[in-house]
Amino acid sequence: MGCANPATAAPQPQPPDLTGMGVERGGPSMTHRYRRLVLDMHIPDWVPGLLARFDPERIADLLVAGRINYATIYAQGHTGHCYWPTAVGVAHAAAREADLFGSLVAALRRRDIFACAYYSLVFNNLIADHPDWRIRSQPQASLADDYGNHRYGQACPNNPAYRARAAAEIAELLSRYEFDGMFFDMAFWRPICLCPACLKRYRDETGCDTPTVVDWHDAGWCRYQEARERWNAQYQAEVTALVKRLRPGLPVTHNAGGILHGWPLAVGLDTITASDFLSGDFYGDLSDQRTVGKLFSACTPGRPAEIMTTRCLPGPQEHVQTKAEDALARHAAAVVACGAAASIIDGINPDGTLEPAVYEMFGRVYAPIAALEEHLGGEPLADVGLYFSDDSKISFAEDGRPAAELRGGERVYPHLRAVRGACEKLQQGQVPFAVVTRRHLAELGRYRVLVLPDVLRMRAEEVAAVRAYVAAGGRVYASRLTSLNATDGRPSEDFALADLFGCHYGGEQTDAISYLRPSPSPAAGELAAALAPQRCLAVRRQTDGRSGMVTLGGPMAGQPLATRTASMYAEPGSVVDRRYISLHSSPPWRDTDEPMLIHHRFGQGEVIYSAANLEALDAPAASRLWLALLRRLAGAPWRVEVQAHPCVWTGAFHQPERRRVLLLFANYPPMTPALPVPSVSFTLQPMAGPWLRLVELPSGVEVAAQRDAAGAISGTLAHVDGLRAVAAVYGDGEGHGGQNSLD
Ligand SMILES: [Zn+2]
Repeated sequence: MGCANPATAAPQPQPPDLTGMGVERGGPSMTHRYRRLVLDMHIPDWVPGLLARFDPERIADLLVAGRINYATIYAQGHTGHCYWPTAVGVAHAAAREADLFGSLVAALRRRDIFACAYYSLVFNNLIADHPDWRIRSQPQASLADDYGNHRYGQACPNNPAYRARAAAEIAELLSRYEFDGMFFDMAFWRPICLCPACLKRYRDETGCDTPTVVDWHDAGWCRYQEARERWNAQYQAEVTALVKRLRPGLPVTHNAGGILHGWPLAVGLDTITASDFLSGDFYGDLSDQRTVGKLFSACTPGRPAEIMTTRCLPGPQEHVQTKAEDALARHAAAVVACGAAASIIDGINPDGTLEPAVYEMFGRVYAPIAALEEHLGGEPLADVGLYFSDDSKISFAEDGRPAAELRGGERVYPHLRAVRGACEKLQQGQVPFAVVTRRHLAELGRYRVLVLPDVLRMRAEEVAAVRAYVAAGGRVYASRLTSLNATDGRPSEDFALADLFGCHYGGEQTDAISYLRPSPSPAAGELAAALAPQRCLAVRRQTDGRSGMVTLGGPMAGQPLATRTASMYAEPGSVVDRRYISLHSSPPWRDTDEPMLIHHRFGQGEVIYSAANLEALDAPAASRLWLALLRRLAGAPWRVEVQAHPCVWTGAFHQPERRRVLLLFANYPPMTPALPVPSVSFTLQPMAGPWLRLVELPSGVEVAAQRDAAGAISGTLAHVDGLRAVAAVYGDGEGHGGQNSLD
């Protein structure tokens, strides 16, 4: 595809600069509200009795019983109805009689519950009455073709009439009501939109026709995806700017859940500019939760970020089947241990009532967080930076496929799989880490080790920042396709970071299975110990590109730490071809001298490059080996060392104004009810001043502490069940706090 003669790119409108518009990035009214609720209310009005029993005072009382101090309530929803008596939109029938939204806002504020208004962008079933507004998978697709088989209508944010309607409703809402925050849901495209407005905008901006076949090695396709992400970021920024014009100090957030999904949603990191803090809904497993917890905590402009999940299993499509109380409590505690606020999504009954017993349960779920809330906050402490690339939410295996077929399930993307695998290994290995992105390039020096997990595409400024980081003494682990491709689709023959890696790209390894074997080097003993009782590690090639390895070619400047052992045959084998030597498996057979792990010094720093995406492999030996590589790169203990069962999620936050580090331990096993973990031990290296004492929170009871000659302080908590917190308090080294209870 592509466009032979793209028009000289016109200057693209940039997101508005919000500074000076009174933006309060997480103002004091919300920073210590970690117990949240989304009162899900996508209720239409075409059946009598819908929302007829909506009682704002009763609802607000139930939220108090649920210990909720921040509620996102619906001004409008996916059905397109407004829940206030609007003059510019379609008011829900019940809202023409009684102002559902306005009365609930007032009831919440009287109880000191933060009232955040929900508004659904893009997802709007008014397209049934305004079919011109709709997102189209094909130019000729009818309303029924695209929307005849499901309930979610989508209006295109490039359609001027839809934009105008949404803006009018938002402006009217802001002109009529005082509330505390604004949450915009669902600003993303899925799939690509071929409506007249999108086709015209792309033609006007680039001089090109809209491509419809995915090709990540084609400049035209890459340019189109860039446009989609830019349009979405601009739309979110414009909506935010509208709110800020009318209510300068109002905190605004757009659902950022799409950041962790694949490219089809067109939600890139640039959308963050439109939000004062990050918020998003997630329904996945523990792996999803730890990844999003770290990503949101790292990327949120204002703290805390907010992570939502449903009361029911498996997600919002279920109204009744409720998660176990212990599972909800563990989830909320784990979110808080990531530094974020927990939010439970509860669907209102169609008649407008809530389930009182459910709110009693929420009250128990949130009780431990309520007790700790005043102690939370601070700057996350991390020694490892895990790189997340929004340009790499793609798969080269998609090349040649019609874009309309691809829906963006994130699990098919190699980089996301590697990020997820790395998060799991780092959390279970109790390594203090944070997610970093291209928004953090100036801060790479904060991290002792930077992990580049199968980063499929990199921008020139990212490559330059990583090179400068290593030259200045940084340590990098990088895997597989990292830096092989730029974001503009231009063909590339070698890693852009080959000079750091100490090796060159040779091609894709086509064997179905390969084995990583430590080779003679100063690291051989450590790597062998990490693999034991295995002598080598299996790396399988997946035909969809999610997992596998590359071959290396050309002169090798680095030292091999491991080489490849091949199986007898490259292909799987069959009854007919007899190309197998053991019927079930393909065991290692032939040692080669082809390097798989390379160690290389560059400038003041060093790099370990892995030809395989080890961090994505799901095997205990892969975890041990990978963590051993990071330890070797770090060369010193982590600032916060924790010995605990892998089900414990640890958070460490520096609170300089309180001269302490807050440690949070959430016991979050994959199966609940959880059993207590017998003990959690921790050691903190010296930081801003000498450690004075360890205090458990919120009780204030002192924890027995040991200090070593180097100034590190250690302690142990026994019987860790639920959420536990310890503050490690330091002095300023000038005698203050000298009544040292450790002496
Ligand atoms: Zn469109």
